[in-house]
This record gives sequence, C-alpha cells and structure tokens, in this order.
Amino acid sequence: MARPGSSCLREDSGEDIGRSPEVSEVYSREKIEIVPCNLCQSEQWKTILAKFGLSIVRCRRCGLVYASPRLIESELRKRYGAAYFFGEYLPVFRADAFSYSLDVIKDHYSLHLSILGKYFLPGKRLLDIGCGAGFFLKAAELAGWSVAGTETSEAASDYARAVTKVKVFYGKLEEIRLAPESFDAVTMLDILEHLPDPMGTLKEVHRVLKKGGILIVNTPDYQSLSRVFLGKGWAVLSPVEHLFYFNEKTLRRALEQAGFRVIGLRNLLIFIPEYTHRRRSIRASLWRSVIKRLEKTRLVEDIHRYEHFDLVFAGDDEASNPLVAEIHHKLKKRIYRKAKAWLRGDHLVAVCQKD
Ligand SMILES: [Zn+2]
Repeated sequence: MARPGSSCLREDSGEDIGRSPEVSEVYSREKIEIVPCNLCQSEQWKTILAKFGLSIVRCRRCGLVYASPRLIESELRKRYGAAYFFGEYLPVFRADAFSYSLDVIKDHYSLHLSILGKYFLPGKRLLDIGCGAGFFLKAAELAGWSVAGTETSEAASDYARAVTKVKVFYGKLEEIRLAPESFDAVTMLDILEHLPDPMGTLKEVHRVLKKGGILIVNTPDYQSLSRVFLGKGWAVLSPVEHLFYFNEKTLRRALEQAGFRVIGLRNLLIFIPEYTHRRRSIRASLWRSVIKRLEKTRLVEDIHRYEHFDLVFAGDDEASNPLVAEIHHKLKKRIYRKAKAWLRGDHLVAVCQKD
C-alpha cells in the first residue's frame, strides 16, 4: 500500500526540516540499516540530504538515489497500519471505512486504465502489486480483467476483500510464490519507491508474468521541477517511507536489469503543488503560482496531451498508426525536446514487455 496522491506526512509538524537532527538522535541503532545500492551493489555513496532523522544518498557508481540509513523492514511495516490506511490513504480517494466512489478511482487512474485497455482480451489476468484498498483492481475488473492483488498491510487487504471485494494475497510478492507465467499484465502504481528491494520484486514480477505480458510502473521522478522549487520540503523526499528516488535513467536500468524491454518511458507533466511538508512556506506559495501560470500555457497543454497518447500507444509503429506518427513527429520537435529538458513533472510512467 502506498499513498498515491496529495496527503502529507507530518505536514508543518513543527519539526525543523531545514536543520534535521542527526540519525542517531532520532532512531536507535537496531531500528535502522545502511544498505548498498540496489541497482549495482556499490557501497560508495554521497549523502545528499538528511531529513526526519534519516538520510538520502546517491550511488557514486550508477547514480541511483536512495534512503540509507533507513528503517529496517519490520519498522517500515509498522508505518502502514490502520491509522495510515484510514487517516492518509483513503482520504486521497475521498473514500471512507465503508464506501468509495468509482468515478474518483477511474479519474485517478485514467492513464493507467487507458494503457491497460490496449492489451485487454476476455479472460486476461491482471496482478496489482501493493494494491492497497484494491481500487485500481476494481476499475480494471469492471473493464473486464480477471484481477488479483498483493498487499503487505493487513488493514488495506482486509478492506480490499470486504469493501472493494477483490481478490488479495496478503504478504510480499516474493514470499507469496505465485505460479510462474500466470499473469498477462502486472501494475506497480506508486509502489516501487516504497519497496525495500525493488530489483528483487521486479525480478519476481518478471517470473510471474507471461511471455508477451505487460508491466506498467508509476513512480515519482527525482528530476521533477517540484524538487527544485520546494527543495527539502518536497514531500516525495521522505526517507521514512520512500526508499528509492528514480529518474528516467535509473528506472530504465532497473527495468532492463530485471529482464524487461521498455517500450514507453515518459515523465508526466503533472504537478501536485500541495505535496510538500511545508505547505505554508514561501517556496510552496511561489511554486503554486508558477504552476498556475505554466498550466495555462499552450506548450504545457500540448506536451501533456502528446505524452499521454505516446504512453497509450507505446510499442505501436508509425507505419500502422498515423496518430502515432503525428505524436512522434511533435515530440521530436526541438521545442518539445528543449522544454522537456527542464519542464519535468512529478511522475514517471513506464510501459514494459516481457519478451
Ligand atoms: Zn549504484
């Protein structure tokens, strides 16, 4: 279960994140661990920032950004209890303990449902990793998919079974041991950054996916303009819950290293201005006004539209689809390439195939 939206951990809690306490002052030694790079196993890193008593580092060899030291897995799991689920997760979808709105869910996941829709045939099976309340699964089920999810939070998996009424395997994907090549599609939406061992999980996803099967991944983009404007207050920078911070390069490498062929990988030009730990800061109000102006520009509107289509049509060739040819033509234009070098939204979306 990950919190895929706009609520905030310790928002304006009074903790001075500009002068974070040293690691040892917040957590006892047995509750934290120093970890090597998950992509290249290097133990050479550079500390980028300290926050909430933990650190975020960059691997000196491959550039992966990750939390180290971080909380050990049993401590991490404690975070995703009933209080988190009912107090932080459900409000993102405007859901409560007994009900949810299908319209809100369909709207929240419209891009992912569009991408998935291209690969649908009756009888096809979808697995959602870290499915939380099972909302995405419910929307996919209504679109015809035969669905199942995995979830490590007891509160979330109970809700998914009792309220959302979808099939959920409780536990870590690597421990559930699903049959090999048993799913046609796998989704990992706002979950990769929370996993203690993303490479291990991606390899297991590869094992349970059928040949020709599709994997859709959604994760924050470390290169986002939000980080530049919001600085350390950007809520994505939260080593208590976000253990990995991918950019296009490191995400592509992780997916390829796990055996996937990346057929589409895009930064999404969408910003969530309220996703900050310091909502009332000058930086946050400045960023909100910049976003308002940006969103009114034709360039941003166009980029958003073309990239959306580019992901939905990922893998299609230009010869067979004139719309794809037009999208590629626009995206290759100098103005788009130049703009996207700095105009980075909050999320990366990747579409991959198992050959
Ligand atoms: Zn590395």
